[in-house]
Amino acid sequence: MLTLSNLINGEPRAPRGGRYLEVTDPATGQAYAQCPDSSAEDVADAVDAAAHALLRWSTTPADARARCLSRLADLIEARIDEFAAAESRDSGKPLALARSLDIPRAIANLRFFAAAATQFAGEAHAMEHGAINYTLRLPLGVVGCISPWNLPLYLFTWKIAPALAAGNAVVAKPSEVTPHTAWLLGTLVQEAGFPDGIFNIVHGSGPAVGEAIVVHDAVKAISFTGSTRTGIAIASAAAPRLKKVSLELGGKNPAIVFDDVELNDKTMATIVRSGFANQGEICLCGSRLLVQRGIYERFRAAYLERVRALRVGDPLEASSDLGALVSKPHFDKVMDCIARARAEGGTVLVGGEQVHVDGRCADGWFVAPTVIEGLPVDSATNQDEIFGPVVTLIPFDTEDEALAIANGTPYGLAASLWTHDISRAHRMAAKLDFGIVWINCWMLRDLRTPFGGSKQSGVGREGGFDAMRFFTEARNVCIDHGL
Ligand code: NAD
Repeated sequence: MLTLSNLINGEPRAPRGGRYLEVTDPATGQAYAQCPDSSAEDVADAVDAAAHALLRWSTTPADARARCLSRLADLIEARIDEFAAAESRDSGKPLALARSLDIPRAIANLRFFAAAATQFAGEAHAMEHGAINYTLRLPLGVVGCISPWNLPLYLFTWKIAPALAAGNAVVAKPSEVTPHTAWLLGTLVQEAGFPDGIFNIVHGSGPAVGEAIVVHDAVKAISFTGSTRTGIAIASAAAPRLKKVSLELGGKNPAIVFDDVELNDKTMATIVRSGFANQGEICLCGSRLLVQRGIYERFRAAYLERVRALRVGDPLEASSDLGALVSKPHFDKVMDCIARARAEGGTVLVGGEQVHVDGRCADGWFVAPTVIEGLPVDSATNQDEIFGPVVTLIPFDTEDEALAIANGTPYGLAASLWTHDISRAHRMAAKLDFGIVWINCWMLRDLRTPFGGSKQSGVGREGGFDAMRFFTEARNVCIDHGL
């Protein structure tokens, strides 16, 4: 069995307590690795190492920091198949998706923030009478990065790359459910040229390791992606310590289809993907599909035909559109949500059950893509994040009604809008209470743009220079000419 280690002060280290957590392949239900079940002591070691390494890194020229990030990207790219296989095995997602989305995006994150390191700059503000202000953007110091299981390396790199690019020392914790690719990346850190101690990875559970990072006095800021519940716990622990936090949390995203839209191949394929990509385990997935009454019947028929054609199967097979859900507890949660939807009076139009896959995946945790109709907009199914392959269909008549339904949950991460009426698109975009609005597209990402949610979907924005600003402290210097 593979044994993962922490990365502390540039070297692989076993957890001090000697305890490990099982890492399971959700497609087979079999444990295949063990990851450190680290403690606050391991976190303290990592923070000490980071604090010692900090001065050297924060005074390293930006282009040298950028070279380390770029080399790390190159090293991953040279092993892209190994990384993709590890990601698929750890999370149950189709290998083809890990190979085409997760790992290329992790590489792109590192390259993007390598470039950002060399482009990021402070501002200057001249005053009328001749004084000038200039703003230094200084690294914060030691920062914590905590990431979830759904897009493991993609979201891990999305945090550590800007933190390192801005000159900070990092203590990072990947999800204990999917630790494999973060560990693999850790094996390349030294070869990429990072000084020892500047980038530490501590594996383990949220309460033991995540919380220890959040409450450690020397950790100046926390960048967190995960559930709203954990985000609230982190915000509560960080507030009395006056730490900076960036929180990317859950979503209950609407996809809104107006009756002027041509239901062509590309549109239908994207709408289906927006519900079921990565088994619906993407925070941006549109789990509430609002369709204008005039095309409801026609849309539903075309949509269901496509959903029925999705293939759930062995993640290693190229023909599998959906793989396994990430873990047995998550599988149970999604199945419970489907049962609840039935109890609330919903009609399951397609799916609604476990999928049994033959052969090596006989004990895996697969769920059929599920479409449910006939639920009130305020039902628990239409209000709570499920984070699985479950979409509800909701008819609407007017623009105002669509807006009220779309905005009518505690979340505000991403909305997608399908219409050819440009005036309506602008009107709706201004009124949709979401951090991201996609019009006639979904998950089209430009890494320069602000990324994040409103309401219970988060606090702050990541991406581009927003991430660089988060990971730096602004110091304004005002010089007068008057002496
Ligand atoms: P989670 O909140 O259970 O865990 C996320 C991370 O936080 C893990 O590394 C976990 O170990 C750690 N953690 C748990 N308790 C902690 C604590 N008390 N203190 C510090 N760290 C702690 O989330 P998850 O189940 O891994 O991920 C799924 C959730 O993430 C979904 O709600 C999804 O919407 C959300 N998500 C949001 C975005 C976004 O960008 N907004 C992106 C991806 C996933």
